[in-house]
Amino acid sequence: QPFIAGITGGIGSGKTTAAKFFEELGVPVYNSDTRAKIIQNENSEVKVKIIEAFGDEAYNQSGLNRVYIAKQVFNNNEKLKQLNQIVHPAVFNDFEEWKKQQTSKIIMKEAAILIESGSYKDCDVVISVLMDKEKRIQRIMARDGFTEEQVMARINNQISDEERIQKSDFIIDNNGDLTHLKNEVEKTFIKIKKLL
Ligand code: ATP
Repeated sequence: QPFIAGITGGIGSGKTTAAKFFEELGVPVYNSDTRAKIIQNENSEVKVKIIEAFGDEAYNQSGLNRVYIAKQVFNNNEKLKQLNQIVHPAVFNDFEEWKKQQTSKIIMKEAAILIESGSYKDCDVVISVLMDKEKRIQRIMARDGFTEEQVMARINNQISDEERIQKSDFIIDNNGDLTHLKNEVEKTFIKIKKLL
């Protein structure tokens, strides 16, 4: 069984960038959000269940119709729960399969909802990447073309930094430049290696 480091952070906090730095240090990284998208597009059992729950409009030629699904689950917690109950177990199984193929002593699971989904409990350590809200808002507005209100709505949907810190073994500060982030990752990796 490899040692599992979970990495998470709020929207736009830099968790994918931090995970890439860990990867450069030799840690194989599983990106749950990327895999979830692929699974929803390609896994036939998942597709059948999503069509059962959301209708044929759930898919188009290019795969899952994200705009349609987003409209269905927006402000509808029951539908969102239904979608999660289809997708989460499939991602869990996919991660287990991936894990079996890894030969490294330590592997990393990156997930935006690592804590919310409860999957942090399967990790040996939890790492949270933190960036001040103001900086994240600016960055996401620029990257995704959202308004400040749209970004705030997404931030408010996620758990607070306080809750994140409480559930984390390591905090990576991402309020500096990318060199600072890389340094933070290297320092954290040294501490984690002592636990292996
Ligand atoms: P999301 O929740 O939206 O998936 P994320 O937490 O994975 O985001 P990243 O994709 O890693 O965040 O970073 C968001 C953007 O900010 C990227 O374009 C990344 O290159 C940039 N970025 C991250 N950290 C820094 C930094 N310290 N300095 C400058 N740019 C950064």
